[in-house]
Amino acid sequence: PMSLSDPVKPHRICVCVRKRPLNKKELAKKEIDVVTIPGNGAMVLHEPKQKVDLTKYLENQTFHFDYSFDEDSTNDLIYRFTAKPLVKTVFEGGMATCFAYGQTGSGKTHTMGGDFTGKSQNSSNGIYALAAQDVFTLLKQKRYADMDLCPYVTFFEIYNGKVFDLLNKKAKLRVLEDDKQQVNVVGLQEVPVLSVDDVIKMIEKGSACRTSGQTFANASSSRSHAVLQVILRRRNFLHGKFSLVDLAGNERGTDVSSNDRHTIVETAEINRSLLALKECIRSLGQNSEHIPFRMSKLTQVLRDSFIGENSRTCMIAMISPGMGSCEYTLNTLRYANRVK
Ligand code: ADP
Ligand code: MG
Repeated sequence: PMSLSDPVKPHRICVCVRKRPLNKKELAKKEIDVVTIPGNGAMVLHEPKQKVDLTKYLENQTFHFDYSFDEDSTNDLIYRFTAKPLVKTVFEGGMATCFAYGQTGSGKTHTMGGDFTGKSQNSSNGIYALAAQDVFTLLKQKRYADMDLCPYVTFFEIYNGKVFDLLNKKAKLRVLEDDKQQVNVVGLQEVPVLSVDDVIKMIEKGSACRTSGQTFANASSSRSHAVLQVILRRRNFLHGKFSLVDLAGNERGTDVSSNDRHTIVETAEINRSLLALKECIRSLGQNSEHIPFRMSKLTQVLRDSFIGENSRTCMIAMISPGMGSCEYTLNTLRYANRVK
């Protein structure tokens, strides 16, 4: 297993996978754990011992990533290898992005630290808060203290191709692109923050807003992308930006037979945005001139993140290890494998 003393490899694009433990429900159903981590960034999806359905029969399949984290890995550990190295990028005037990808229930919100419901609070040790902590630590360092950098936070949600401000009662926002292709979310609240506590307050506020389904009920949090940004401004000009994205569940229209038009449209939109995301990150990796950011609202809003010399990205793909999730796990591993 990975440990805190392992070296962090420098990457422009880092793709890793995180396996969560089997949960109570899965244990109660005596689900088999079909995912192992042999080391060196590999993750293996195993052939199920029982064939539930011949069409779903799987061979052992091995995938390789920058890092693979097992079920005993803490958020601290994950953070150190994924988002932490990107904090410096933001201070150096770059764009950093960290994505949590995976099926609903695989641990995206847990990893990011946007879970403020009841006992399972992990707000203070999720990637959101850990990144905020490092931002404030660096702000106080001598080499950055003289730069006049001011930190701000935004928190918004993208649902069905529409943007809602989580720090302003889910106000629906317009996205405009100017003639220089600069993308602007009109009216997005950018809240100045003076401490980690300030940031945590905003995360709490936004997360509560996210799950309080006003218009689209409880579906909202699993069917929408949440974007938390820590922005550094220097004399009001944008200096650097860190976007932390809790993506919508990637489960495809399993319910293909669903004749609920709303669900079909919703699923199509999620698929489109996740496909667009993959294409944009690949373009960044290839230093391509052409970034297909207009393919979806998500990538349009994050356009800054895919251009420029000083843009860096990490993706953490979350894995539910139960046999019942096999198909989704395979999808997730294939997707993560193609990002880089
Ligand atoms: P998602 O946001 O991907 O839908 P969640 O983060 O809400 O999934 O996780 C679903 C449940 O599993 C939550 O109760 C969460 O606390 C738990 N969970 C997720 N990942 C882990 C983990 N690595 N260790 C322990 N519990 C986890
Ligand atoms: Mg979630």
